[in-house]
Amino acid sequence: DMTLIHSGPTLVPPPDDLTVPQFFLDGSSRHVTQPERLVGTPCLIDDDSGQKVMLEELRERTRCLANALKFHWNIGEGTIVTIISPNHIDYGPCVWAIHRLGGIVATLGPMLTSWELVHHFKIAMPSIIFVHSDCLSSVLQATAVVGLQADRIVMVDTPGSSGPRGFRNLDVLIHEGSSLPQFTERALTQGEAKSRIAFLAPSSGTTGTQKVVAISHFNVISIVIQSATFNRINEPYAPGADRFRRGDISTGFLPLYHIYGLVYNLHYMIYAGLTLVLTPKFNFENFLASIERNRITHLTLVPPQAVLLCKHPAVKRYDLSSVRYCIVAAAPLSATLTQELLEILPNVHLGQGYGLTETCGTVGMFPLTQKIGTLGSGGQLLPGTFAKVVKPDGTLAKEPEVGELYVKGGQVALGYYDNEQATKETFIDGWLKTGDQVYFQNGDIFVIERIKELIKVKGLQVAPAELEGHLLTHPSIFDCAVIGVADEYSGELPMAFIVLQPELATAVNTNVHLANDLRSGIFKHVADVKSRHKWLAGGVRFTNAIPRNPSGKILRRLLRAQLNDSPSA
Ligand code: ATP
Ligand code: MG
Repeated sequence: DMTLIHSGPTLVPPPDDLTVPQFFLDGSSRHVTQPERLVGTPCLIDDDSGQKVMLEELRERTRCLANALKFHWNIGEGTIVTIISPNHIDYGPCVWAIHRLGGIVATLGPMLTSWELVHHFKIAMPSIIFVHSDCLSSVLQATAVVGLQADRIVMVDTPGSSGPRGFRNLDVLIHEGSSLPQFTERALTQGEAKSRIAFLAPSSGTTGTQKVVAISHFNVISIVIQSATFNRINEPYAPGADRFRRGDISTGFLPLYHIYGLVYNLHYMIYAGLTLVLTPKFNFENFLASIERNRITHLTLVPPQAVLLCKHPAVKRYDLSSVRYCIVAAAPLSATLTQELLEILPNVHLGQGYGLTETCGTVGMFPLTQKIGTLGSGGQLLPGTFAKVVKPDGTLAKEPEVGELYVKGGQVALGYYDNEQATKETFIDGWLKTGDQVYFQNGDIFVIERIKELIKVKGLQVAPAELEGHLLTHPSIFDCAVIGVADEYSGELPMAFIVLQPELATAVNTNVHLANDLRSGIFKHVADVKSRHKWLAGGVRFTNAIPRNPSGKILRRLLRAQLNDSPSA
């Protein structure tokens, strides 16, 4: 029954015979791509040094690096090259040079331990690794384990001969490449971009070890065209289309190794004609200062930064009036937090995006027709995206019934690299099984919670995200997380980890009465408005910080482990 299948607006099919650099850097007569609009506007600004990079320079550095990579290592079709680095001004050229040669780019986080790196190398063994000096020691431990030679390592951040001995150097390679034989990328056949892998992108590892998602060149081009069509950036006179204007400036502190930064910041922003201010290390006060200094117009956030904007006292000291647009994604943003954020950024278009690494970052976004996205909603389906909601009994849900979301569209990835079993279980007849419990209402997707994280109290489901959103409205609470703890009678009970506002945090350590009062106040804050099975009957525990991964998601598995280590604290 077609009424049970939701779909976004129609989409003119994106090209399936172009690689990522052909589409993003070269432009094309058949497809009005953005590079032509970028002439005169920097694509990137290095937040630390202020260095500006124009499109012409990105093209040139990509071209030279491709020549050098071909010459030294003969990188060819299917060669895996891994980048392990914080955000870096040459991240793009590294990616696109590898793509030009037909290689596959695996991106990994700079904070991974050597054992985590070994896990990834065993899934996808790189031929070459681009490394930032911050990560060199863990990379060397990992390469020793898997037997990869040091002459396969390129340092990305040590200019000239200043780097550690024995390693090649990105700057030197790019310099050499200008006088090496010119490599020319071959044209793809029709449809070839659909099967050719562009990226091996790690999932966030929220529910377990990181999965490695194989993303095609077509997936990347498709998601950018889907987002651009949604935001009507190629229709300058359409209502609302001025939300993304040439010369606008976006934050770029989200890590480029994760799909959100890689696709939405690096590729989408450049395509949309914006300037991306690349920040290697996130620090909240520097972030505020950067908004003021660079007259940032577009914020790309994850919820923890939204919370900081609402609660951090430093916010008042900075001029944030340049900001016009703010999207928050990767984890839920509650309705109340959205409203608090609006008090800080009153004139801003504000809403959420929802997506997964497996969908190249985005399934839904708040639309141009809304100044503020529907409160609590993860947005509306992008053009060319289809969705169905499957109830526990296997039948399709009617709006607004709840069930597991399945998604189809040009942005749905090829599968998990080198893992047929997991691919078969998750990518089913062209549909991606998201693992997220959702419902639809008037075109909006509401993400309730990951199915894996739902707490089951006497057979009733409690979504941690719902309680967390509510707890954050308590004036004493700075941050929080909710998990389920085992209970003989109820099966599971909700329990809250609470980070108190700084001045209270020290006071509770010395004042038992205050701690008890706060605990019962917090319990009551929930009990006053939520039905009984949602009460914090599993306890309220004060802690110093909530563990999150870099994409801003609460690592509830670490909280559960913490509880097993010291059950009575
Ligand atoms: P892993 O799959 O390794 O456990 P992960 O699922 O967190 O980690 P990502 O691909 O980065 O890795 O995140 C996708 C998930 O993030 C979605 O499945 C969803 O649960 C959550 N998510 C993303 N955007 C939103 C949003 N706007 N609201 C609620 N949840 C969101
Ligand atoms: Mg996931």
